[in-house]
Amino acid sequence: MNSITEKAYAKINLGLDVIRKRPDGYHDVSMIMQTVNLHDTISIKKTKFQSVTVRSNLYYLPTDRRNLVYKAVEVFREHYPIRSGLNITLNKRIPVAAGLAGGSADAAATLKGLNRLFQTGLSLEELMQLGIKLGADVPFCLMMGCAHSEGIGEILHPLPPIPGCKILLVKPDVSVSTKHVYENLRLNEEISHPDISSMIKALKENNLYALIPLMENILETVTIKEHPIIEEIKGLMKSKGALTALMSGSGPTVYGIFDNKLKAKQAYDLFKSSDWGYQVILTEPYSPAK
Ligand code: ATP
Repeated sequence: MNSITEKAYAKINLGLDVIRKRPDGYHDVSMIMQTVNLHDTISIKKTKFQSVTVRSNLYYLPTDRRNLVYKAVEVFREHYPIRSGLNITLNKRIPVAAGLAGGSADAAATLKGLNRLFQTGLSLEELMQLGIKLGADVPFCLMMGCAHSEGIGEILHPLPPIPGCKILLVKPDVSVSTKHVYENLRLNEEISHPDISSMIKALKENNLYALIPLMENILETVTIKEHPIIEEIKGLMKSKGALTALMSGSGPTVYGIFDNKLKAKQAYDLFKSSDWGYQVILTEPYSPAK
């Protein structure tokens, strides 16, 4: 085998709670993550040279070791020496710096791809142990589907997926730094925490309508204060028939959950036809084949 192509899927957070700030600066979280059917594509080709080159369709994305694809190759190489060089082509469709874990998904897909290309036979668990070195969301991006994640994101308990629905993603043209959002989160008594245990129960009962009112993201308290446009998009989505609308991760992407395909398409058309400069994607939950 000389080359391989992997898909790197985005995620949304159905619920996101932050439990505490740890002495090492990281935060302990309790989140429900769901993979969605939106992916980047990564093609990895062996070359006879020693060097690793990464190319991407987005001119503004770094392609050196600041790119998580490149970093994933380095982490893989530390453990499993690869003699040949690599030409990697990254075709991005997941909005960047959006709260959709695009970079983490690419890192996960790169680890998977290298494992297949060089037939290193690593188990999912072993890949996840490499993945956590690259970022807190990488183990989930390797596992995919739906899961409750704890610790800094590395403790994962698989869950049944969100029941059938359409998911509308709208990313406004604002920049959000995940680090900044976590640093500005105030975990005082007034803050409302999502009821993650009840969300897990609703997912296990396959009950979309019990899940919907429980969905909350504690990071909205920081990001929406700085970018009120997020609240406006949430309101507009709900007025167009979304059962709920929530920010994903640290934002700024807002997603709406629809149980009605037609309403979802109409809301998509509304956001798409506007000249607000948003990135708009209509998708659905994604579960990998077992
Ligand atoms: P998360 O939800 O995990 O916080 P995100 O979706 O908010 O992630 P990313 O799309 O992963 O954010 O991008 C965050 C930063 O990482 C960007 O500013 C970008 O320059 C850098 N980056 C490095 N590699 C990649 C990659 N392969 N794809 C996207 N961004 C990357």
